[in-house]
Amino acid sequence: MSTKPTIAIAKGDGIGPEIMDAVLRILDAAGAQLNYETVRIGQSLYLEGHSSGIAPEAWDVLRKHKVFLKSPITTPQGGGYKSLNVTVRKTMGLFANVRPSKSYTPFVPSHFPKLDLVIIRENEEDLYAGIEHQQTDEVVQCLKLISRPGCEKIVRYAFDYARANNRKKVTCMSKDNIMKLTDGLFHKIFNEIAAEYTDIATDHYIIDIGSAKLADDPERFDVIVTLNLYGDIISDIVAEVAGSVGLGGSSNIGEEVAMFEAIHGSAPDIAGKGIANPSGLLNGACMMLVHLGQGEVAAKIENALLKTLEDGIHTGDIYSAEHSTARVGTDAFADAIIARLGQLPTTIAPIVANPNAKPIEIKPFQYKAAGEKRFVGTDVFIQWTADNRDPNVLGKIIEQFGRNGLALNLISNRGQSVYPGGQTTTFCTDHWRCRYKVVNEETDATTQADVLALMQQFVDAGLDIIKTENLYYFNGEKAFSAGQGQ
Ligand code: NAD
Repeated sequence: MSTKPTIAIAKGDGIGPEIMDAVLRILDAAGAQLNYETVRIGQSLYLEGHSSGIAPEAWDVLRKHKVFLKSPITTPQGGGYKSLNVTVRKTMGLFANVRPSKSYTPFVPSHFPKLDLVIIRENEEDLYAGIEHQQTDEVVQCLKLISRPGCEKIVRYAFDYARANNRKKVTCMSKDNIMKLTDGLFHKIFNEIAAEYTDIATDHYIIDIGSAKLADDPERFDVIVTLNLYGDIISDIVAEVAGSVGLGGSSNIGEEVAMFEAIHGSAPDIAGKGIANPSGLLNGACMMLVHLGQGEVAAKIENALLKTLEDGIHTGDIYSAEHSTARVGTDAFADAIIARLGQLPTTIAPIVANPNAKPIEIKPFQYKAAGEKRFVGTDVFIQWTADNRDPNVLGKIIEQFGRNGLALNLISNRGQSVYPGGQTTTFCTDHWRCRYKVVNEETDATTQADVLALMQQFVDAGLDIIKTENLYYFNGEKAFSAGQGQ
């Protein structure tokens, strides 16, 4: 091996320093070729006034070394603090969160002895864009943003990951029966990219039944690719049913930088007691070694960890009278792993390093030229509580508005059409969407000037505009949803 790469490390909060020290000892004993530079993150940085919990100079270190091994941190309670994890993922472009889960029965009890799956979660967009507003007294909104580049990058990564790791099937999970444009785009791009990987089987589950199957029959899955929020939820379900939340590691992969960590938090309840299980961070570190082309060292460590588990040497979180021979603390557990470096497990299948393994190549995203876009109307959102909130009264007032063919098409409340022809049983809040469209949306177009004139009519009538949302056809295709019940 040539020169040793330097990686950034952060010891974090709570049990973070204890498990990081144990992991670094194991890495060194196993012969990992690494130098380390420590960056400051976590609670002390929040309290120093850095709202995202990271020292400003840390960014240069992460960009320089490109690989970051991170212990968990404690996020202070209360407003004003931003999640460090979300900030690092988005600032460094870490678009893919990779979470393998595997059961180690009978040594760590699970109902699913053959569970062995990987969740690949989109990491940068969806509801985690964090764009939230209160719009009226009664209604708040969180914007769900899904982009074509975001979907293409994560779906392609999932297929490349499956190929590189000899996995046979990629399952997409989405809710495109309801969110036809956002989740629909994710599913559509999944189908487009799947066509390029004919050697990999594919299927799709609506996320609700997919989650139910994960809880009841996870052994049917191999690689799962999904959107940010769903991935966050199902990866915890899977870690739990695998019986090994404390064992799970994860990677966060970007075009240039990658971050590796445990899936658990800083466990303040056991911090400083020397009893934390370092396996989650160690598994994250092994994913890092594979990423750095040191897969043989990773396999050596993972096999020693499995042998330690098989020998019943367990930290308190996985200790059981039935399967354990010794309850040990963090340091003794690390010593037991170090003593078993070079040994293989005998019941659990050993890990075999792939000598040809290379980091998955992530090509820079190629932006595409903008397509044809036709402006066919606008949704004007207002706060309105007059006249017993009777949509027929509002309808009669605002159907006078509009010019050059731009005319009222519907009023909806929380998405449900209430005018014309609404039902008296629909519950109405103070938040109304007033949709104006051109007469023939398949051929006609409106203008910004017509929309501004329309908004002026609302203002002149004393109506309280919250926001507007334009309606388009992109490349000849309708690109907005109809009102429910319309
Ligand atoms: P947690 O994962 O820290 O702890 C949950 C339970 O699991 C606790 O009882 C804890 O003792 C136990 N546990 C966790 N890791 C363990 C280990 N390695 N060995 C033995 N037992 C372990 O979750 P929490 O209590 O909800 O969160 C604590 C703090 O961690 C919060 O401030 C939270 O914001 C933060 N957190 C950070 C990350 C991260 O940095 N990646 C992730 C999740 C939570």
